[in-house]
Amino acid sequence: MARRSQPDSRPEKLRSELVELLNDFAEKLQHEDLRGKVCALIPAFRKLRDLGSSLIPISDAGSARERILAYLLKYPHQIIDGDELAVVSGIGEWARRVRELRVEFGWWIYSGYTFDDIASAAEKAGDLAEVLGVEAIHIRPDQYILMRIEEDRDAAYRWNVLNEIRGKKVSVTDKILEYLRRNAGKQVTGEELKYLAGDAKEWARRVRELRTEAGWPIVTKNSGREDLAVGVYVLEEDRQAEEHDRRIPDDVRVAVLRRDNFSCVECGWSRSMFSPEDPRKFLELHHVTHHKDRGANTMENLKTLCNVHHDAIHRQTRRT
Ligand SMILES: [Zn+2]
Ligand SMILES: [Zn+2]
Repeated sequence: MARRSQPDSRPEKLRSELVELLNDFAEKLQHEDLRGKVCALIPAFRKLRDLGSSLIPISDAGSARERILAYLLKYPHQIIDGDELAVVSGIGEWARRVRELRVEFGWWIYSGYTFDDIASAAEKAGDLAEVLGVEAIHIRPDQYILMRIEEDRDAAYRWNVLNEIRGKKVSVTDKILEYLRRNAGKQVTGEELKYLAGDAKEWARRVRELRTEAGWPIVTKNSGREDLAVGVYVLEEDRQAEEHDRRIPDDVRVAVLRRDNFSCVECGWSRSMFSPEDPRKFLELHHVTHHKDRGANTMENLKTLCNVHHDAIHRQTRRT
């Protein structure tokens, strides 16, 4: 691909030059020669790209990647068409720049593909509509949303860890689990997990299985951590739930948490009381009649406990 000419900071000049080029093209259009017409259109094509990229001044953003980021930062939490990013970037390979911003630089830029993966792995339609004002299904694959305006300070570290794990010859589930464990307590995006899975659509389903079947405390907005953004995952603690506390469906989990006001029924601790010195770090669900003793995954048989009281109950049970 030929390099485009330098962007001009004077959009009006570019606009009038473009009009001139298109006027000249009127004469070419009369000829039969297809290739002649195509080649004659190239200067206008390039001029249009320059005009688009000139809309964001060079002083604000010098490169195509910086222009894409500047544009997304101007309109966070809104659905942005890929075509808009094509216009402001002024380059054909804008999608690759978006990928770099997302995984290498750690910006939370979600594509419609990722929302689709998340929605299709959910047990029920999620709360995407509430957060975004649209159903996940209405975001097209080539549309994007900047989910968070802060830059990720750990981006370089995470990028290295991502690639290290991505290259391993293990299952998608094992890759996801290792990445979450190495980022325990931190917010991880669906885009990172998707990249880790080599873009396989199954990544979202594997995350859910790790939570609901293997008992890893991976929380999301739809599983009771309503303070999290859609598409964000946190492994709250680097440990698996007791065998009998596993396999709780997400909708039951959320219903129990809501009933118990998102707080420990023993001490009243909730996430809003989180403090680094306090050993109480997160909430877990406990089966009153243990699952292995045929205790059901129902609201009646489940209660919310902080990790401290949950541990205490299990120590007592083991002694008796
Ligand atoms: Zn407690
Ligand atoms: Zn328990």
